[in-house]
Amino acid sequence: MMTIRDRISEKFKELFSCSGTVYMSAGRINLIGEHTDYNGGFVFPGAIDKGIWVEMKPNGGKNVRVYSLDFGEYSEFGMNEEDAPFRSWARYVFGVCREIIKRGYAFGGFDAVFAGDVPLGAGLSSSAALESAFGFGINDMYSLGISMFDLALTGQATEHNYCGVNCGIMDQFASIFGKAGNLMRLDCMTLEYEYYPFKPRGYRLVLLDSAVKHELVGSPYNKRRESCERVAARLGRKFLRGASMDELDAVKADISEEDYRRARYVIGEEKRVLTVCDALNRGDYETVGRMMYETHRGMRDDYEVSCEELDYLNDMAAECGVTGSRIMGGGFGGCTINLVKDNVYPVFTDKAVASFEARYGHAPKVYDVVISDGARRVE
Ligand code: ADP
Ligand code: MG
Repeated sequence: MMTIRDRISEKFKELFSCSGTVYMSAGRINLIGEHTDYNGGFVFPGAIDKGIWVEMKPNGGKNVRVYSLDFGEYSEFGMNEEDAPFRSWARYVFGVCREIIKRGYAFGGFDAVFAGDVPLGAGLSSSAALESAFGFGINDMYSLGISMFDLALTGQATEHNYCGVNCGIMDQFASIFGKAGNLMRLDCMTLEYEYYPFKPRGYRLVLLDSAVKHELVGSPYNKRRESCERVAARLGRKFLRGASMDELDAVKADISEEDYRRARYVIGEEKRVLTVCDALNRGDYETVGRMMYETHRGMRDDYEVSCEELDYLNDMAAECGVTGSRIMGGGFGGCTINLVKDNVYPVFTDKAVASFEARYGHAPKVYDVVISDGARRVE
């Protein structure tokens, strides 16, 4: 079977009659640390062995000519603000170009062919992989000297300004800074980060995609944020980050029962991230798994962002003896992330897929992931 890299090179030659340089950037998982970003807390992502590959070459003109192999679509556009392309995938490429230009860098038109294997819209951040692959490629191809952190910010700004997605920095950060065998603890308050070893010998990471997305009325996400802000204000803090359970209990009588539970989840999640860091330094994956289950319970009972399908997958995991399992992402649908012993893996995936399908009428998708390198030039 041809690799993605081979397929984009073949197409590049066919379209542009020459060869360019190949870059890739990765999708990502988040092991733990959910709904912590807007509370000034930690997230704990890693890049995965699924990404976007792009072959690029300057074309001597002013336009970008780009072909999406997965969609079989071509787009050509200039790089001025009024040149925004119509196709939504092309807007990611256009946005990256614009954001780099806005930061004062100059570069010429180029040709590109890209494709990938990050499932779209599954919570593995195919869009960040796309932005990061192009951003990294443009930076390298034209020797612009943009720092890796600024490249991540460029991808984030692309989502905000050209794709209508008001995301944090985690996805682009992980896609670019990812390192095989390492997860990254990113402090969303200071943007400092630290690598932690993740080499779970005898275990695998697998995601089960419920393929459901519950749109809940009344913008539940904003309501959670408002609860956190109210409690933080009551504690005289800017963020819940750093608050203790004792502090929270001291104001329990002054806040609503619901706000109390929201804050209890966030404070607990900060602790769990730190517990996971210590555990990883010891190679103690059983503790990591326990924290994942605790996070799931917190998201289900205190933060109330789970849903029936995700709870079912989590129960299934517990029943099969999976080491760790939880909702990944904001909740209300999407995937569970599971830390599974090798010998439990086949039983768990077979059973979860079959019984989920029997119950909900569609089979969850299974994504095996290995923590891998982020953005790079592919030699
Ligand atoms: P995700 O959670 O995977 O990031 P998004 O909705 O944020 O989901 O981004 C998905 C969008 O990114 C797609 O609709 C498409 O425009 C673009 N995209 C991602 N991967 C590809 C790909 N392989 N080829 C073309 N476009 C892609
Ligand atoms: Mg995305």
